[in-house]
Amino acid sequence: MYDVIIIGSGVIGATIARELSKYNLKTIILEKEFDVALGATMANSAIVHSGHDPIPGTLKAKFNVLGNRMYKKMSEELDIPFLECGGMVVAVDGTQIEELKQLHDRALKNGLKDNEIRILNQGEVRDMEPNISDTVKKALYLLTTAVTFPWEVAIANIENAMDNGVELSLETEVLDINKDKNFKVSTTKGVFESRVVINAAGIYADKVSNLLVKSNYEIKPRRGEYFVLDSDVNLVNSVIYPLPTEKGKGVIATPQYHGNVLLGPTSDYVDLDDKTKTSEEGISYIRDEISKTIKNVPFNKVIRSFAGSRATSTRNDFIIEETDVKGFINVAGIDSPGLTAAPAISKYVTDLVGKRIKLTKKNDFNPVRRVTRINKLDTEDLNELVKRDDRFGHIVCRCENITEGEVIESIHRKCGARSVVGVKMRVRPGSGRCQGGFCQPEVIKILAKELKIDPMDINYNKSGSQILNESTKGEAK
Ligand SMILES: Cc1cc2nc3c(=O)[nH]c(=O)nc-3n(C[C@H](O)[C@H](O)[C@H](O)COP(=O)(O)OP(=O)(O)OC[C@H]3O[C@@H](n4cnc5c(N)ncnc54)[C@H](O)[C@@H]3O)c2cc1C
Repeated sequence: MYDVIIIGSGVIGATIARELSKYNLKTIILEKEFDVALGATMANSAIVHSGHDPIPGTLKAKFNVLGNRMYKKMSEELDIPFLECGGMVVAVDGTQIEELKQLHDRALKNGLKDNEIRILNQGEVRDMEPNISDTVKKALYLLTTAVTFPWEVAIANIENAMDNGVELSLETEVLDINKDKNFKVSTTKGVFESRVVINAAGIYADKVSNLLVKSNYEIKPRRGEYFVLDSDVNLVNSVIYPLPTEKGKGVIATPQYHGNVLLGPTSDYVDLDDKTKTSEEGISYIRDEISKTIKNVPFNKVIRSFAGSRATSTRNDFIIEETDVKGFINVAGIDSPGLTAAPAISKYVTDLVGKRIKLTKKNDFNPVRRVTRINKLDTEDLNELVKRDDRFGHIVCRCENITEGEVIESIHRKCGARSVVGVKMRVRPGSGRCQGGFCQPEVIKILAKELKIDPMDINYNKSGSQILNESTKGEAK
């Protein structure tokens, strides 16, 4: 019997799990996939938005600004990459200057401070961003805009939650929910009981809610497609936004923590089956739109395209509330800026849990998580490390400089990697220019050795997604 069941291990379920792990509670996360964070958390722009564009008075506005202010501390505690690059919304021609001023006022209404935003003139914009389009006249500068690494935000929160006692059950799809005295959550791995259930099922949150109580909202997948540029392209220093429209924040150029630039996303309502598909139209739309804000975009340096879908609700705002069934909490419709808002949402949800269960703080909560990153070590420390364990001197991924030691660590940490994508999400082999051409066979070998299974049985990202079919050398079978 658990105190709390969290359905979903995206960034929302993950940050809630960590927040709850500060209290004397028995908590479990149920996740239907083979690994954590394979939903919207896996495919987004990675921006920790300032909070300049949500409609004032909405939950999005409130939790965006609060979440942004919590990110640096969370990132330091959990060793999550955090790039304080700032951002700017550009007026692509003179006709947009009035709108830019209105956005400045909206940002202030949302709680940004005077010294966190500023209108820049054309010369200032050019000095900061040499590749900005010649037509850009002014920009709204956003000092507190930053960039994170979304996979690691979720994984780090779950690892730390697990270090503090939270349990995780993967490949556990919630199929039904009933309430008698307590909740009975039926899954593909049996029935779990709890006093509180938190529905953080992303794009499926309406369906999960409907299992118990007819939800008063629907979730519509809104797809965003992207290009990734090679890390040797020095295109922008800060996040470059166009003016927002009713479709969202528009096509953005975002410098990533690890050196690439992301161009996108699009914004199109799609069927669930198409939620991660890229399209010819999407890709040409990005080319056209990005060329309005940035010049000299080297499209020949694209190393990958991908797509993810936002869980946009018919209520047009985040839905974070207890339902008519006491103890069943919906955390739904968490589209953008959900990644930014997650730490603030997790505190609010914990307060909702506190209305049903008396919360007492743990004395021994450990807020810290650390991982080995050889790229962060100076030569002396790296030499020391390699002397202790020479697997940290054996490069597996040449593009991103990732060692065998780091891959092995990612497999043996709490909530460790079990698939090729799982390793990529945790330590990034396969994220560089060759996109896994060189390192993937190495990663398969290491996974097989560490998990003590046949290389043929190593999955790409889920059960049944094995990459290898048969040996090409040695005796034919
Ligand atoms: C294109 C795009 C760009 C974005 N850009 C940004 C940005 O730059 N900044 C920002 O702040 N936000 C951004 N967002 C929003 C952000 O990515 C999301 O708000 C956030 O990832 C939502 O997290 P989540 O945990 O709610 O959902 P998810 O990550 O989708 O997690 C939900 C989980 O629930 C699981 N699940 C579903 N049904 C069940 C079931 N029946 N049983 C068990 N498990 C189940 C799923 O498998 C999944 O793992 C963007 C989103 C997209 C798609």
